[in-house]
Amino acid sequence: MKCSLCGYVFREEEAQSGCKSCPMMQGCKLIKCPNCGIDSPPEPKWAKHLRREGE
Ligand SMILES: [Zn+2]
Repeated sequence: MKCSLCGYVFREEEAQSGCKSCPMMQGCKLIKCPNCGIDSPPEPKWAKHLRREGE
């Protein structure tokens, strides 16, 4: 997905694995941008289809 803040493009799987040590819960659903570190909710599947980004 693409970070809405800095525009960095990364894989959701990649970003989610970085949040496994989250103290709040085990593996929250937020996606953390590896570039700027902002948390954002995962994109809905239809949005991905729309942009043809694949995974
Ligand atoms: Zn970012």
